[in-house]
Amino acid sequence: MTARMPLMAANWKMHFTADEAVALVKELNKGITRFDGREVVVAPPFTALAGVASALASSPIKLAAQNCHWESQGAYTGEISPSMLRHVGCDCVIVGHSERRQYFGETDESVNRKIVALVEVDLGCIFCIGETLEERQAEKTLEVLAKQLIGGLEGLGEEQAGKLVLAYEPVWAIGTGHTASPEQAQEAHAFIRDNLVKRFDNAVANQIRILYGGSVKPDNVDELMAQPDIDGALVGGASLKADSFIRIVDFEG
Ligand code: PEP
Repeated sequence: MTARMPLMAANWKMHFTADEAVALVKELNKGITRFDGREVVVAPPFTALAGVASALASSPIKLAAQNCHWESQGAYTGEISPSMLRHVGCDCVIVGHSERRQYFGETDESVNRKIVALVEVDLGCIFCIGETLEERQAEKTLEVLAKQLIGGLEGLGEEQAGKLVLAYEPVWAIGTGHTASPEQAQEAHAFIRDNLVKRFDNAVANQIRILYGGSVKPDNVDELMAQPDIDGALVGGASLKADSFIRIVDFEG
C-alpha cells in the first residue's frame, strides 16, 4: 500500500479574533515538537488568515480557509474566491463541512463547483462528507457517502482527484462528544477508499488521504489513528486549546 502522510487539521470555525488566532498559532508553533511524519494544518476564520499567514512564514504548519466561492471574482457580496485565498497565503480550503451543508444550504453540486475551482488554482482541498444520525439509524450511511462522493467528485479526472484530501465526518459526532468507534470510522473509511479505487486509477485512489472528524480528542486520537484507512484528523473543539491540539498532533501510531 502507498504510504500516506498523516494530516492533522484544526478547524477553528467562528472562534478567535485575528490577534487571538495569531497568539494560538504561535503557541502551536512552539509547542509542536513532532513535525516528522505528520502534516499540520490550521483553519482560522477569514479575518485571521493574513495575520496567521505571516506568523507562519517560516513554519511547517500549513494554512487553510474554512470555505470559498467557486467564482474567481464578481458581484457576489460577502464571498471570497479561491485566488484571493491563495493570495493571502492559504495552502488549502475546507469544503462541504456539514455545518455549511446544514446551515448555509451547501449541496453536493455547490461543493463540486468549489472543488473544481480550487483544483484550477492549484489550492488543496479538504472535502468533507458524512451521514446524519437519522441516516445512520436507517442504515443508509454507505448510501449517503456514495451519493456525496459521486456529487462532489463529478467531472474530476485522475490528476485533479490526486490533489484532494477527504474527511469523513459523521454529523452526529461533530461537536457532540460522541466519537465514532474506531471500527465504525474504519468501516466508513474503507468504504470511501473502495469507492475511490473503483473510480480512479489504483495509485491515485490510494494516495488520497481520508481524515476522520467528529469529537477527536487527546484521549481517543491514538486508537483512531491506529486504523489502517484513517490518515489523519479534522479537529474542531479540541483544536481550540494549544495543549490539546499539540497532544493530538503528537498521536502515537
Ligand atoms: C469539525 O468541525 O470538523 C469537527 C470535527 O468538530 P469537533 O472536533 O468539535 O467534533
